Amino acid sequence: MKASQFFISTLKEAPADAEIVSHQLMMRAGLIKKLGAGIYNYMPMGLRVIRKVEAIVREEMNRAGAIEMSMPVIQPAELWQETGRFEAMGPELLRIKDRHGRDFVVQPTSEEVVTDVMRQDIRSYKQLPKNLYQIQTKFRDERRPRFGLMRGREFIMKDAYSFDRDQTAAKVSYQNMAQAYRRIFDRFGLTYRAVAADSGAIGGDLSEEFQVIAATGEDAIVYCPTSDYAANMEKAEALAPAGPRQEASQTLAKTPTPGKATCADVAELLGIPLETTVKSLVLATDLSNEAGEVVKTQVWLLLLRGDHNMNEIKVGKVPGLDASFRFASLAEIDDHFGCEPGYLGPLNLKKPVKLLVDREVAVMADWVCGANEADFHITGVNWSRDLPEPDLIADIRNVVAGDPSPDGNGVLAIERGIEVGHVFYLGTKYSQAMNATFLGENGKPQFLEMGCYGIGITRLPAAAIEQNHDERGIIWPDAIAPFTVVICPITPERFPDVKAASDKLYSELLGAGVDVILDDRGERPGAMFADWELIGVPHRVTIGDRGLKEGHIEYQHRRDTAASKVDAATAFDFLK
Ligand code: ATP
Ligand code: MG
Ligand code: MG
Ligand code: MG
Repeated sequence: MKASQFFISTLKEAPADAEIVSHQLMMRAGLIKKLGAGIYNYMPMGLRVIRKVEAIVREEMNRAGAIEMSMPVIQPAELWQETGRFEAMGPELLRIKDRHGRDFVVQPTSEEVVTDVMRQDIRSYKQLPKNLYQIQTKFRDERRPRFGLMRGREFIMKDAYSFDRDQTAAKVSYQNMAQAYRRIFDRFGLTYRAVAADSGAIGGDLSEEFQVIAATGEDAIVYCPTSDYAANMEKAEALAPAGPRQEASQTLAKTPTPGKATCADVAELLGIPLETTVKSLVLATDLSNEAGEVVKTQVWLLLLRGDHNMNEIKVGKVPGLDASFRFASLAEIDDHFGCEPGYLGPLNLKKPVKLLVDREVAVMADWVCGANEADFHITGVNWSRDLPEPDLIADIRNVVAGDPSPDGNGVLAIERGIEVGHVFYLGTKYSQAMNATFLGENGKPQFLEMGCYGIGITRLPAAAIEQNHDERGIIWPDAIAPFTVVICPITPERFPDVKAASDKLYSELLGAGVDVILDDRGERPGAMFADWELIGVPHRVTIGDRGLKEGHIEYQHRRDTAASKVDAATAFDFLK
């Protein structure tokens, strides 16, 4: 590719709404352009990265015996009604109507459609196993689309679905995918961890997430440095042994029944003027045992956005200090304040919470917070200032670093990750709901045993950048770089030998199948280097007249601090 014929548009400054480095650099390097909230154009430079991610995924899926197909982005609601997800999925599912008033959905995932395909075609156990996948546009109406491609509303996912005759075979298919995922993520050249995830109602250990390690990751990962144990926080919390935390939950369960308070009561309690616009509040309450001793300080987090009417908030007195708050219902809070369902204290704080805060709260640390329900009790709550204002993360944990590992082989550590893949054993959840059967070896109809396997194709480049960048820009791993090599000729218009050497090396590399771009835009060296460092091409060759006269060109890896001389005669062998 010649740069003059390609589409390169770099920016000095990132737009103000780009909060994390991958979003900033993707915008600045011209990989994506925003069209709407959580909706982006994949620009030519960005699309090259996405296509490379897809190619690796496709190759390894095919190698693992999966078969590619493509399912419609717009899907009739009837199938989604069969499984109950048309209603159950809530506002993340985008529902639309056609001209006849019929309901449709924009696929957020495709279990229903693929199950429908299989129930039509699979007659006998002899046709099994099968694994169908697609690399396709998804839409999820995320409540807070943000961080560019990291949490888009429209995004590309690779979704695969396995179909088997029985549980034993389904588990083999699951393991086959879990191994294929390791090969895929190894090839991307990123540091990642496969962690056990919650497999929901089905139980068992058959759900794993693939997490790219990065400080800005939205997920907390719990692992044991001296053993193989690794789980996401939800899963680790579910397995946490009974102990003081559960006892504290019991105490919480005994807090008195809520009464009613007015806006004025709340303002007085908090010592803030009535007209304050509150984005979030933190209240500390001491929790006493039956003997009246304070056992824990509990913190209720109330996440409120903008102006609102507090009249309906119910308040109950807690022995010791202040008050605890109870809302009428989660749904009510959700509707009223536009917060994540289940992301609101005090009812159900099981996950890390992103808070908008306009009050100074950093003086408090290691809180306990939770709900008046057993096991919803959370310790070690802290503000983290890693993210730019106004976002603060509270790490809300049942499990804290230093806890013993469940496998008994050490203590736990915690780090943050970005979920880029997820493998999941589904059992017969969808095949039963949709009556998808086949004739078993015994001649009787049986439900298909299923698994589903996702990879966030467009999230992956964002995760790669979070992990691989410096102050000058992106540093792509070779495997997913938009171009692997860039050739930068220095003033070739003045020096015919420079032009000739650059053109020659370019066509040799092209001929050898190297993904090379020749910067023939006529930019000054400084601007040219700045662009390629921002874009993050891993290998750069600079060809200048003086060097050529001395018989060398210059090579610099994107991670190198300086260029090194390479014999001009062997440049091609060096690079290919
Ligand atoms: P998250 O926890 O980040 O919301 P999820 O668990 O809802 O993700 P899955 O249903 O497991 O996502 O989908 C499979 C993969 O699709 C995820 O592992 C992730 O890489 C990707 N993905 C999910 N939601 C988004 C999104 N809004 N934008 C980009 N990629 C996404
Ligand atoms: Mg999600
Ligand atoms: Mg998830
Ligand atoms: Mg997931």
